[in-house]
Amino acid sequence: MSNSQADSLVSRVNGLAQRAAHESTPIEEARTAGVLLAKLMVKHALSIGTSNPDAMRQLAELRQANATLATQNLKLQAELAMARQGTQSKPSQGAWKRITARFDSKCPACAGHIEMGEPIMYRKGSRAVHVSCLYND
Ligand SMILES: [Zn+2]
Repeated sequence: MSNSQADSLVSRVNGLAQRAAHESTPIEEARTAGVLLAKLMVKHALSIGTSNPDAMRQLAELRQANATLATQNLKLQAELAMARQGTQSKPSQGAWKRITARFDSKCPACAGHIEMGEPIMYRKGSRAVHVSCLYND
């Protein structure tokens, strides 16, 4: 693209942007100008820049704030993951699950009888206990 072509592209983009944003432009024409502007930008791989130092500074501050938020979010997620792990048993033992007893047995916590069909707590590697026995010890 020659310099004059680039200049004419810049003036077309600026013209469309002015037309789209100007309050005296009828809404339909403003929409059309906006669509043409977007197409022109995509076609020529243009991006929105600014030479306004205040806007640049605000943009930099926004980016910084976004980065801080993202970091805080990551830390929070890590803390949550650790908190969740802390409430769970070791993987080799599995997590306690509330199930229905499939056969009669003896509760190791209270030495009482567990009847088939009763709700119990069970995990891999442990014997089934009464629901109340697991949470009362
Ligand atoms: Zn029990």
